[in-house]
Amino acid sequence: MPPLRESTDPVFQAMFQSAADVIVVVDEHGTIVMANDACERLLGHAPESLVGKRVEVLVPSRFARHARLRDDYVSGPRPRAMGQGLLLQAAHADGHEVPVDIALTPMVVSGRRWTACALRDMRGRTIGPETLRVQATALRSAANGIVITDRTGTISWVNPAACAITGYAPDELIGQHTRLLKSGRHDSEFYANLWRTISRGETWSGTIVNRRKDGTHYYEEQTIAPVVDEKGVISHFIAIKQDVTERRRNEEALATAHAKLGEYVVEIESLNRRLREQAIRDPLTGLHNRRFFEESAERDAARAIRLGEPLAVVMLDIDHFKQINDSFGHASGDRVLESISALLRAHARVADLVCRFGGEEFVALLPGASLASALERAERWRAEIEARGITIDDGRAIRCTVSIGIAMLGTGADSIGMALRRADAALYQAKRGGRNRVASTEP
Ligand code: GH3
Ligand code: MG
Ligand code: MG
Repeated sequence: MPPLRESTDPVFQAMFQSAADVIVVVDEHGTIVMANDACERLLGHAPESLVGKRVEVLVPSRFARHARLRDDYVSGPRPRAMGQGLLLQAAHADGHEVPVDIALTPMVVSGRRWTACALRDMRGRTIGPETLRVQATALRSAANGIVITDRTGTISWVNPAACAITGYAPDELIGQHTRLLKSGRHDSEFYANLWRTISRGETWSGTIVNRRKDGTHYYEEQTIAPVVDEKGVISHFIAIKQDVTERRRNEEALATAHAKLGEYVVEIESLNRRLREQAIRDPLTGLHNRRFFEESAERDAARAIRLGEPLAVVMLDIDHFKQINDSFGHASGDRVLESISALLRAHARVADLVCRFGGEEFVALLPGASLASALERAERWRAEIEARGITIDDGRAIRCTVSIGIAMLGTGADSIGMALRRADAALYQAKRGGRNRVASTEP
């Protein structure tokens, strides 16, 4: 019988040789009787070189059982179609393995049992239908919404979660462009950037505000990945979505609560500061009060003792203030208190502590001031107060004087309390001596 290679039927010849799959025809002993041109392309064997060889030349050597399996097959041949999910390997002439799917077609030719074997190139398509079915099930049942689009953004597949998120049925989404879900909450630059990223073949991740079928907006965390074919061309995009509206809402509520809390804290702090200020300041004159003096004077005293520096305690009392009140009224008395306070404040140095100690009595603590310099400063205050007239509301000027007593910390007084008592005694002396004068208990 003539080898089929030399068949004169031109249609058969053309069909056989131009088939995309490798086709080899094997006799009952496993000898190749015919091979087509695809053998060269896929497996590196010239078709003529295969004729007469055992078919095992196309089987990787690690499949040592192939010849025996083939013998078994010959005793009970059954056709086998492709696409059964069996991943098989063929041996290339240079020794490497090529993934193939194989169809077997037993036939009887002139009383002989031959088998036509077709081998299909499975390079790059090595996922079997079983794997695909498992993966498709996984995609369908995923908790995340999954939307597959073509390269233009037209939806070709959605899973139930995507439908649940968007409120659309699958057939309302498939065939639509993803812009169906646009909320209008992002500008065109946002979408342009997204498309630029995925069109470059990169994955885009971010949060998008989209619109459900019922018109409500929702926040969606999305990862969009391009699917690239073997030639590097994008064929599809796969978007994995998660509705994060609830989380976003909670985060926003939390942020608002935080901001509010922040405002409250600021308000409370400012209130606290004001309360503290009120607690330590005299409201009429704005000077510190006796309470603040008592809080801070001991500190100043301790510091002066530690550094061996002098500290003068100056006590000042308005003369005949009762008469001022009586003659001009209480409000005018207040003006006098304010005026004298302003003068004392204007003369105070940074380290000085000036306070309204009570009624019409003031105390100044002068750290670093020697007795001589305290006397000099007090005398200046006294003279200035005596010289100035204090204009009251009705335009009249009140003239008033002050008496001042001075004591030094250290000389005979080892505490602020004691220095205050000695300053008070000096003040009493000044009053006794005729008022409008400065006195000190110091020798
Ligand atoms: P001396 O020269 O001995 O100090 O006589 P004085 O009148 O200044 O002394 P006295 O202690 O008798 O009177 C103090 C007066 O100060 C009595 C009180 O009504 C008045 N006074 C105390 N606090 C205030 C105040 O806040 N405003 C006004 N206008 N008067 C006050
Ligand atoms: Mg007085
Ligand atoms: Mg007094």
